[in-house]
Amino acid sequence: MYASVISDPFAHFSFGIGAAYGALPPLWQFAFAIAFGLAIGSFVAMVAHRLPIMLERAWHLEISEATGQPAKTDALPARYNLCVPRSACPHCGHVLRAYENIPVLSYVLLRGRCSACHAPIGARYPLIELASGALAALALAFYGPTGAGLAAFGFTVTLLAMSAIDAQTRLLPDSLTLPLLWAGLIVNFGDTFATLRAAVAGAIAGYLFLWCIYWLFRFARGVEGMGYGDFKLLAALGAWLGWAALPQIVLIAAVTGAAVGLIAMGSGRLRFEEPLPFGPFLALGGAITLFGGTPFFHLLGA
Ligand SMILES: [Zn+2]
Repeated sequence: MYASVISDPFAHFSFGIGAAYGALPPLWQFAFAIAFGLAIGSFVAMVAHRLPIMLERAWHLEISEATGQPAKTDALPARYNLCVPRSACPHCGHVLRAYENIPVLSYVLLRGRCSACHAPIGARYPLIELASGALAALALAFYGPTGAGLAAFGFTVTLLAMSAIDAQTRLLPDSLTLPLLWAGLIVNFGDTFATLRAAVAGAIAGYLFLWCIYWLFRFARGVEGMGYGDFKLLAALGAWLGWAALPQIVLIAAVTGAAVGLIAMGSGRLRFEEPLPFGPFLALGGAITLFGGTPFFHLLGA
């Protein structure tokens, strides 16, 4: 049986593609969901690669406008956004043909190498694609062929994009955290994953909680343990899952973050004073809470 939602915001749209999809046998539903997830994953991997570069370029242009100095020139073409230029090998510039751009399959067939120069392609592309396909299957398994299921996939795949960006660049771009926050409030306008009251309270409490921790650390130890992006991400998670989910999300993030940090330090991949990006662990806490509910909150007797 599917996970319960308070109400399905798209339940009225019981016609068209949604109804046709819902009428398919479950096996076909999963096949289409996974194919859709893999394709979106391919887009997410591209966003995770390009968005930080676009932000850095915009930042250099702003500095150049403010100071009158020429912008720091880089190797990028004049137009660079999510659509142009077409995906190419970073080593030799070989533009990917359509059949070299199929999620996961192309990577396997090309044995992880560029077809022109044979330079290795990063494993993060197929890994992000696979994770996105798995999230689509999970969303369907837990919420069924409903609007809530589609929203659950959109929520978790955005968390995946943010985690990939934060892990690599330690940035949580406003252009992802803020729309995710608004989307959570809109989806819960019809009390989907949380009541609208719980969602608004969650957005406020999520931001304020990490903001307080941040200032406590600054006063006590003079260190900055987190960035403002983390506050906005927890606010977004609160908007999607309601305030009652926040203690569990922070607990999961703190425990998994500490475990990964200790392992990374033990294996010499992280120095002690080096902060770990917190976004991926908050995102993990959010995804686990979406699919697993809030047993921690119920343990507290609430
Ligand atoms: Zn190449």
